[in-house]
Amino acid sequence: MIKNLRGKALLIDPAQTKSTGFTREERELYGLRGLLPYDVAGIGKQIDRVLGSLRAKSSAIEKYIFLNALLERNQRLFYRTMIDHIEEIMPLVYTPTVGEACKEFAHIFRKPQGFYITPEDRGDIAAILKNWPEEDIRVIVVTDGERILGLGDLGASGMGIPIGKVALYVACAGIDPAQCMPVMLDVGTNNSSIREDPLYLGYPCPRIVGDAYRSLVDEFVHAVQQRFPRALIQFEDFLTPHAFEFLERYQDTVRCFNDDIQGTAAVTLAGIYSSCRITGKNFRDLNIMFLGAGSAASGAAELIVDAFCATGLTEAAAQKRLWFIDRKGLLTATSENIKPRVKAYAHEHAACSFVDAIEAIKPDVLIGATGVAGTFTETVVRKMAAVNDRPVIIALSNPTSHTECTAEQAYHWSDGRVIFASGSPFAPVQYGNRVFKSSQGNNAYIFPGIGLGVYASDARLVTQSMFLAAARILANIVSEQEIGDGAVYPALPRVREVSHAIAVAVCQVAKQEGLTDMNLPEDLDGYVRSLMYEPDY
Ligand code: NAD
Repeated sequence: MIKNLRGKALLIDPAQTKSTGFTREERELYGLRGLLPYDVAGIGKQIDRVLGSLRAKSSAIEKYIFLNALLERNQRLFYRTMIDHIEEIMPLVYTPTVGEACKEFAHIFRKPQGFYITPEDRGDIAAILKNWPEEDIRVIVVTDGERILGLGDLGASGMGIPIGKVALYVACAGIDPAQCMPVMLDVGTNNSSIREDPLYLGYPCPRIVGDAYRSLVDEFVHAVQQRFPRALIQFEDFLTPHAFEFLERYQDTVRCFNDDIQGTAAVTLAGIYSSCRITGKNFRDLNIMFLGAGSAASGAAELIVDAFCATGLTEAAAQKRLWFIDRKGLLTATSENIKPRVKAYAHEHAACSFVDAIEAIKPDVLIGATGVAGTFTETVVRKMAAVNDRPVIIALSNPTSHTECTAEQAYHWSDGRVIFASGSPFAPVQYGNRVFKSSQGNNAYIFPGIGLGVYASDARLVTQSMFLAAARILANIVSEQEIGDGAVYPALPRVREVSHAIAVAVCQVAKQEGLTDMNLPEDLDGYVRSLMYEPDY
């Protein structure tokens, strides 16, 4: 919302201020003379000042606090800095620093951001949503704080996650910050150490459960339809069973998706697609093995099956290409207590250990999503390297301390032959006379582009085909040089190019699937680009 502000009010408005960037003419016109030092500093000079102060801070959490304060003070400067220095800033605004920021939320809190809903708002959610100052909301990121990253139940302190994801939507896809809304569904916390902290800011009760919980989520989702009918709802960091439940409940009627399931699935599939560009293998022929059967792995498995089916395989044949390992070894038709979501991948096979399963099945790709460090042991990696010239290993678990194996282990144990991607970033690894730079399977390559595409096409729903298209786009955008270097994802500074391309594809899918009444413009590329917020003075 552009307001006609002048003087001090203009100077302190985070969306409109240019601070020392106001020109002499603007200072005269808007009553700013005397309110600013003499120098007229363009955004580039201001970024230099920001980076100088940022780099002088000694800890990541101090940098987080500094950047948050900048966002509150000068939105355009914050986002320009973030976009131009994405590799440096993203880990400070999102993982891994955001985890620490959430744990410290009650202690580092400065200024309210986002929207909070508690059980005391039952019956009033539609009414209180009117308190939000913007009218045209297009992206809502909502969490209930129960499974924040690998940190568990942080209650209302999990608000750092939707705030961080909104920053990624703006920086990575150019959604206007005024059209994004972070939401905390604060239904209590079962984490007593957080709840009993005298500074805790959330609803200080144990979590509401069962119908009381579900009906509050329902009320929120329906209230959004009334107040912000064009908004996309991104569910984030809900406990896995709730994540699946809400996705199933709303995905056919509400414009929504779950990033932990669908975003992760697309980024994983993209990594597999582009690994084929390195190995020369045909995607259709791959055998893929998973360790862990939670939301990340089972979501990825479902999208990979869709991807196989798109090559002409039947669903049954596609499912046969996927294998799961649980704590007891290979999941087979005779295993006990198989989770419903992975039943289709429990094939007829003799029971065997993880390592024997690699020997017997010879998977081309091994994916870890356990959240447990060290589960890809030296024996596992060596076995993958024994059955493949170029083994593909994707260790998704975050944060770094939970990774199935490190990049260094993967390159050393495979004699430098592995194609390695991970959930957490790793520094380059020296092995022999080569330096290997592994790839980070960051969901930020996927969800911002999905959001931009849904915005641009006004698609009524978010479908699996959109994530499938996003995975293909992401894999194909990796340059020949990057492929030659063994990378399965493009360099992070290319993320806006990726989001734009994904958004264009999402528009096309929305049209093909009859999910939009819009006639797509002839210059779809230009149209999508014209929607992207480009912070500058
Ligand atoms: P989850 O809790 O739903 O699933 C974890 C699964 O691993 C469970 O099924 C559990 O039984 C299984 N498991 C644990 N230890 C095991 C072992 N030793 N052997 C076999 N199975 C084991 O969690 P999730 O949401 O699926 O996330 C898993 C991990 O993936 C987390 O660390 C998360 O941070 C990470 N993740 C990364 C990305 C990304 O980098 N793009 C995205 C989403 C999730």
